Amino acid sequence: MNINQHFLNLNDSYLFSIIAKKVNDYKAANPDNMIIRLGIGDVTLPLVPAVVEAMHHAVSEMGRAETFRGYGEEQGYLFLRQAVCGYYAKKGVTIQDDEVFISDGAKSDLGNILDIFAPDNTVLIPDPVYPVYVDTNIMAGCNIVYMNGNADNGFLPQPDKSIRPDIIYLCSPNNPTGAVYNKEQLSLWVDYALENNAVILFDSAYEIFIRDANLPTSIYQIDGADKCAIEFCSLSKMAGFTGTRCGYTIVPRSLIRSGTALNKLWLRRQTTKFNGVPYIVQRGAEAVFTGEGFAQIQSNIDYYLQNARIITDTLTELGTWFTGGINAPYIWLKCPDSMSSWEFFDYLLENANVVGTPGAGFGAGGEGFFRLSAFGHRESVITAMKNLRKLK
Ligand code: PLP
Repeated sequence: MNINQHFLNLNDSYLFSIIAKKVNDYKAANPDNMIIRLGIGDVTLPLVPAVVEAMHHAVSEMGRAETFRGYGEEQGYLFLRQAVCGYYAKKGVTIQDDEVFISDGAKSDLGNILDIFAPDNTVLIPDPVYPVYVDTNIMAGCNIVYMNGNADNGFLPQPDKSIRPDIIYLCSPNNPTGAVYNKEQLSLWVDYALENNAVILFDSAYEIFIRDANLPTSIYQIDGADKCAIEFCSLSKMAGFTGTRCGYTIVPRSLIRSGTALNKLWLRRQTTKFNGVPYIVQRGAEAVFTGEGFAQIQSNIDYYLQNARIITDTLTELGTWFTGGINAPYIWLKCPDSMSSWEFFDYLLENANVVGTPGAGFGAGGEGFFRLSAFGHRESVITAMKNLRKLK
């Protein structure tokens, strides 16, 4: 019996347990101080009424013999896949319902997609970024090449012609930096992928936060992307589905490698290893794309973006370098006085009672930076910023 040795190459994921321990120790020593958490990447507003109503209705359907449903299509019910196509049509992107795959969230698909690629691929991954890309590629034993985000490139790495990648991960708006690629920058990536016969894995989990009409919310708004990109999106941040679980992945039929349509491979993978998302959840997800549901989720996104605005205004006032927070729920700031990410974490906890996320937790390139999240409650954000101002 041999284990997958690649698992032994993973770094232990201590980030959030170290944060929890530090916060608990501080609370025990300072029981009267109120801790404000701006570290979490989870939403705080509940599901919107249109979603709740649709799910109630679906529960009732499941309880009646005439409308009960058992196994559904592994790739998702047609009603939801068509709703996703309608959403893309509004972005000016034409996709067919058999190019949409409904899943229980982007994290699963981002990890599972590696099933359809060979393990000896060269994989380009931004640093810093959502750690799941790195860990899943380590598990699969792929050859990872990092592309560095830094203050000079606005944490938006550009193609490096000296590298010939097979797979390229892009995340825009980015977690953790909140940086967003514009159309020209994404076009360079699409051209580069086409030149190298590579595939872009485009994570658009935060696209709903883009309010600047000139910024792309889907990679398919770029010419040629349907021949080189798979897009992953999620209702987690879009509609508060972090606990409800639903996402979707787009695999265009025109994406062909080694004479094979990747759409066919992914369909085969999903129908073999996945049995679909609950009917009740898919009905809730469908409601997100109705006029009423969409207006309701937009108002929640407005709330988070207003939180982000309160944070960025404070950082601007304090003269702190940051990126993100405008078309994204994350604000990525440079730690003052050359502090390391963890030094700044301790400083902020002890002096402002604010908890954020040390940038070093998102890759070596995050050292010296810090992530604040706009997903908190308004009063907490306001109090946190008051405390921050007092530090000056
Ligand atoms: N992609 C990015 C960039 C994320 O930050 C997250 C969650 O934090 C995900 C994907 C996963 O989302 P889901 O809840 O759909 O699995």
